[in-house]
Amino acid sequence: MTKAIIETENMSYIYPDGTSALQDINIEIKKGERAAIIGSNGAGKSTLFLHFNGILKPSSGVIKIDGEPLNYKKDGLLRTRQKVGIVFQNPDDQLFAPTVEEDVAFGPMNLGLSIEEVENRVKESLAMVGMSGLEKKAPHHLSGGQKKRVAIAGILAMKPEIMVMDEPTTGLDPQGAKQIMSLLYELNQDDMSIIISSHDVEIITQFADKIFVLHEGSFIGQGSPNEIFNNPELVEKANLALPKSAALLHLLKENGFSCDVKLTVDDAYHEILHALGTDAYHNLLHLVKNEYHHQLLHELGEDNYHKLLHLLEEEHN
Ligand code: ADP
Repeated sequence: MTKAIIETENMSYIYPDGTSALQDINIEIKKGERAAIIGSNGAGKSTLFLHFNGILKPSSGVIKIDGEPLNYKKDGLLRTRQKVGIVFQNPDDQLFAPTVEEDVAFGPMNLGLSIEEVENRVKESLAMVGMSGLEKKAPHHLSGGQKKRVAIAGILAMKPEIMVMDEPTTGLDPQGAKQIMSLLYELNQDDMSIIISSHDVEIITQFADKIFVLHEGSFIGQGSPNEIFNNPELVEKANLALPKSAALLHLLKENGFSCDVKLTVDDAYHEILHALGTDAYHNLLHLVKNEYHHQLLHELGEDNYHKLLHLLEEEHN
């Protein structure tokens, strides 16, 4: 059985001002999974993520990394942060060094690696996010999307086992968003566990194999993308929207078409073709049996009419 890499038991968190941001959170993420936490603004996604590498300590309950309760002493935190890399939603919260390369080098330097190893990691990480050649630039002169890539490179350079990204595509154009999601997918293929948060349901359906739905600090559902988005009430309760394809198929279903809900445009296209095909077929059968009964009998003769009817019904059964 694949072991849990992050798990919590009845974890709750109350901010110092009294805001109860998380209540009784039980989550289990297994090694190699692509998990997504979805929920509207203020649901508690960022608060939850800040627990994953010990920036916040639960007010009650337990969080375990790799089966061990998180150790909040200095060396324990260092080990956790090497294992769990977090990329924040706003890269300005993460970038601080005068140049891109110094920024990316900061994490590996703190691990006490050799200069040569640090240089290799910086080069490799910048190449992975498509930022080679911009080593000497000041982070504050970069575009939003470029800043995000540098922030990701800074975490990749630590070679974490688990990558946690809060809203990975915020501030990126569609092409940039696609590249980042492809990168996360490749990292996952190389055995990195990935946890993202998002309210972009289109991105989530294409990426995640497990979804947790967070609402007002509690989990109100979890399952595969198919399980979650086949439950419109749950999605509505979480103040989220259905993926466009799923919304269209739900509408067709409600209006009497026989179809399943599909989450990607490609799958939805085939499902709709199939549904329309079946529907057209039933219309034909209906016409042959009813409205055009007399006309067809006259045109085809009784034997041929019955042969046609038989063929259509046999097809149907
Ligand atoms: P999300 O990431 O899903 O948008 P957050 O984790 O940022 O949600 O917020 C969860 C709840 O905690 C919200 O009610 C928010 O107002 C509150 N909150 C977040 N940060 C703080 C803070 N530093 N102090 C007090 N309350 C906070």
